Amino acid sequence: MKYLFLIFLMNLLHQYAGKSLRRDGSSLKSFEDIKNEIAGYTNIAKAIIDLAVHGKAQNRSYERLAVFTDTIGPRLSGSKNLEAAIKYMFSALQEDRLENVHLEPVKVPHWERGEEFAVMLEPRNHSIAILGLGNSIATPPEGITAEVIVVASFDELHKRAQEAKGKIVVYNEPFINYGETVQYRLQGAVEAAKVGAVASLIRSIASFSIHSPHTGEQSYQPDVPQIPTACISVEDAEMMSRMSLRGTKIVVHLRMGAKTYPDSLSFNTVAEIVGSKYPEQVVLVSGHLDSWDVGQGAMDDGGGAFISWEALSLIKDLGLRPKRTLRLVLWTGEEQGGVGAKQYYQLHKENISNFDIVMESDEGTFKPSGLGFAGSAEARDIVREIMTLLQPINVTAVYNTADGTDIAFWMRDGVPGASLQDDINKYFWFHHSQGDTMTVQDPNQMNLCAAVWAVVSYVIADMEDMLPR
Ligand SMILES: [Zn+2]
Repeated sequence: MKYLFLIFLMNLLHQYAGKSLRRDGSSLKSFEDIKNEIAGYTNIAKAIIDLAVHGKAQNRSYERLAVFTDTIGPRLSGSKNLEAAIKYMFSALQEDRLENVHLEPVKVPHWERGEEFAVMLEPRNHSIAILGLGNSIATPPEGITAEVIVVASFDELHKRAQEAKGKIVVYNEPFINYGETVQYRLQGAVEAAKVGAVASLIRSIASFSIHSPHTGEQSYQPDVPQIPTACISVEDAEMMSRMSLRGTKIVVHLRMGAKTYPDSLSFNTVAEIVGSKYPEQVVLVSGHLDSWDVGQGAMDDGGGAFISWEALSLIKDLGLRPKRTLRLVLWTGEEQGGVGAKQYYQLHKENISNFDIVMESDEGTFKPSGLGFAGSAEARDIVREIMTLLQPINVTAVYNTADGTDIAFWMRDGVPGASLQDDINKYFWFHHSQGDTMTVQDPNQMNLCAAVWAVVSYVIADMEDMLPR
């Protein structure tokens, strides 16, 4: 009996070696303990990397994405294609033998661009490539014919407000970075309408162009008249700017048949590997399934959605089951401002204390360099340590912020968040354009992205403790 007690005592001492006790009696591990715990995953990380990059799962996420995008095509919120995509994924995730595969209903906006075109009539006849912006109204059926005023900024527009009345405002804003420059797409129509313009054409938010218009969401303001708005190519914006600087009068005819329908029923698509020890606790891995209505939505966000699926496939194929639940969410309605994610958050936020980390890949699946991370300093130290497990593929960096429309709600409330960081040099060449196709994707790069996603999500889901907040 005494002997047993001694063993018990020694076990207890061993268990708490190097740890301090919290007031509530739970253990507070030293960072050395955590480092050791993470080092214990070295072989599992290698196995995941081997399977994803060199083994039989090599190129799988790319090939799955190719079949999916070639079959379904682009997947705009409210479209039949998006409906087909969700059905497709529901079956595919079941066939992959993931657990709790289900759909969570969401009401999403339903806008269709209809037929649209623009022609320059003066100083010469020239067909202008356009893509109407999401949520834009149509022109009257006969179209709008008006003189153009070209501005390089909102400042210039406000200074020349008198000149803009009755005209089509063409914005030729330089591309600085997406976050800054996208303001012209989001608010260009509202600002133009405020000074009496009849339509606005916005230089595409693109870092490179081969005469490609790039669409995206825009919104109106309740107290400002709604005017039709579309994006044009960088080339046409620059040409009209040169013409107008020379004092040449420009006249454009614009016709857009856009229509907004009542919100339609859509779904967030969910699949899991249920946790073995803390099934109620969740590591959320995600990308969005919807896209714009051009190209194939292979890059935005087919890649992110399919490496997220791949992460669960890899873990399942290795026969691993983490302590916490790994939950894949393929969001709907992201492009309209994270509509699916918002409803998901409202539905699940009462369970927020059980969300360990929320992860989203929505900035391409090119060559990965590391992880964007948002969370406390303690959590960041742990994530840095986890990233050392990715030394075999040299993807170990941890960056200061995490991005992702769909995970923002959780991060705002203090849940640690992570986004995949990759080489986004070419991302805005293709973003929201006809150029977003499978041709942009690279199977090797997707393998690496999937390996990062799987190692990070598995280790966080399997560590004894949740990440500190
Ligand atoms: Zn996206």
